Amino acid sequence: QQEQPIKKSSSPPLPRQNAKVTPPSPPKIITDKARALEFVRVGMLGEGGFARVYEVQDARGRRSACKVVTKSSLKTKKAKTKLYAEIKIHKSLDHPNIVRFQDCFEDDDNVYMTLELCHNGSLMDMLRRRKRFTEPEARFFMVQLIGACHYMHTHQVIHRDLKLGNIFLDRNMNVKVGDFGLAALIENPGERKKTICGTPNYIAPEVLFDTANGHSFEVDTWSIGVILYTLVVGRPPFQTKDVKAIYQRIRDNVYEFPADRVVSQLVQELIQQILTPDPQQRPTLHEIVDHAWFTTGTVPGYIPTSAHDAPPDFR
Ligand code: ADP
Repeated sequence: QQEQPIKKSSSPPLPRQNAKVTPPSPPKIITDKARALEFVRVGMLGEGGFARVYEVQDARGRRSACKVVTKSSLKTKKAKTKLYAEIKIHKSLDHPNIVRFQDCFEDDDNVYMTLELCHNGSLMDMLRRRKRFTEPEARFFMVQLIGACHYMHTHQVIHRDLKLGNIFLDRNMNVKVGDFGLAALIENPGERKKTICGTPNYIAPEVLFDTANGHSFEVDTWSIGVILYTLVVGRPPFQTKDVKAIYQRIRDNVYEFPADRVVSQLVQELIQQILTPDPQQRPTLHEIVDHAWFTTGTVPGYIPTSAHDAPPDFR
């Protein structure tokens, strides 16, 4: 499944061509000279656009994730500005459902960011194994995701790339939103963003089709609607073979609920409300959690790790 983000300032956007830069190959012992700290690389967690993410252990035995970006990929001013913006925004956030940004430092070859380690991978990995989630599980994940998103918005941050692959799970299966690579800070009230960015399946219509007006916080709300649909149905609502066709379906608000799967009327109604094309008419995050799907259904207190492989029995 194509889940690569795009970032481009002219329309129509197409998926980013992954520029072939040599991926980072950090030393086995990564040193933060200024703080006299050493981290031992103990495993690889994943790979993103320009970054590789490793599991590292400090002298006290504490484990973290370490995102490594090679300096050779930061030759342009634009690339540097982008990384600094990601660091500045991520550093400013402190919430139980957002991956904690610990530190950043550099050596001759790379820039390193140490992050809270998420032991249970992403919701994307988990969905692949589970095919789809039960509605109580979806409520649990959504309440935490919406809490994190509300916190970001009150701190003037738009994430702009909320998707299952950027929602991580800690060792207790709690949600941790990560990857602030496309996040934007709204510095003046009423400011609108114009950069076309996001990940095709999750992009709000105003990002693609109202480029004159720009977009704001409501793009995250749209992605939350796409995420909710994906959790309970098992695939994103506007998914098709080619990206242009996905954009057409987003523009025309064309998606269906499968007839062969039990998806409650209430969740269908909530998804339809969230996926309102006009961002001004879209429900607020408060209105979303006040919907009957949340208030009249089971919200589990926790998700057992057994949920990786089989639906838990909440009764
Ligand atoms: P990019 O911004 O380049 O896409 P990400 O921040 O999304 O990079 O990280 C790439 C991959 O690394 C993720 O898909 C995930 O597998 C892994 N990863 C990132 N952050 C963490 C973390 N805090 N804990 C565990 N794994 C992580």
